[in-house]
Amino acid sequence: MFSLKDRVALVTGAGRGIGRAIALALADAGARVGITARTAEELDDVVSVIRKGGGEALAVVADLGRKGAPTDVLQQMQAKLGAVDVLVNNAGIGSSSDPRPIAQFNDDFWDLTILLNLTVPYQLSKAVLPTMHAKKWGRIINIASINGKTPSLHGAAYAASKHGLLGLTRTLALEVAKEGITVNAICPGPVHTLMNDRRLEYDAKRRGISFAEVEQGMTPIGGRLEPEDIAPMAVYLASNEARMITGQAYNICGGVLLY
Ligand code: NAP
Repeated sequence: MFSLKDRVALVTGAGRGIGRAIALALADAGARVGITARTAEELDDVVSVIRKGGGEALAVVADLGRKGAPTDVLQQMQAKLGAVDVLVNNAGIGSSSDPRPIAQFNDDFWDLTILLNLTVPYQLSKAVLPTMHAKKWGRIINIASINGKTPSLHGAAYAASKHGLLGLTRTLALEVAKEGITVNAICPGPVHTLMNDRRLEYDAKRRGISFAEVEQGMTPIGGRLEPEDIAPMAVYLASNEARMITGQAYNICGGVLLY
């Protein structure tokens, strides 16, 4: 429906889950897509699916938490695909790797979460701005979370990073509003991915109920979302048609959050 022909997109964390679905959807809409994550096999699979569908894709393997990695990745992408028009900051880590109450929170895990979920999106956004400014066109789409608006029990770093990401989204949106660049966030609810499976396992144990029971009660609509439920919003926000939408944070959450 929305054409991204002649656009170049960079999607972080696109080897699996939500990032993979977004990369495939952007490619389907005609964008040339650069993808990055640490696991080469997962990236290769995404590239091969895009190429089989007649699209163009490039993978760069990187740990975005390594100092200098975000700008290295961007430079490699721009050298091969051209200037990035659409940046999707999706890579992140969840609370599930080390969930604890704040009094027992692991400081290193706090730092890593803030780094990957907030600082890396800041660094990449900053790095794509010069070419977006030059073209007077750009789209930055941050994959936040409903935990950007509500707490995450035993996941203080996650909730803080995602609340921060919304602050970054809204501030940058205002700063570049006159430049043809829009900056928005998507706030998914529970999506059926590896990250969310781990969180459900933790919640099932904590509450003494089965994984299936936790899953069924996750949303008012029932069950969890799939990554493909998130991707169409990213395509829309990346399109020309969404030119007047900026600084927004859209919930896609099966009715979990009603504001
Ligand atoms: P996922 O299935 O775990 O995928 C995360 C992606 O990020 C993977 O491709 C992973 O690849 C990459 N990644 C993680 N650490 C990285 C690093 N240090 N450097 C480069 N890439 C890295 O997670 P997901 O559920 O799709 O989550 C994607 C985004 O959606 C996250 O920002 C998450 O907070 C957000 N979100 C998810 C949910 C949910 O319920 N699933 C809800 C709200 C928001 P490698 O491990 O290979 O590096």
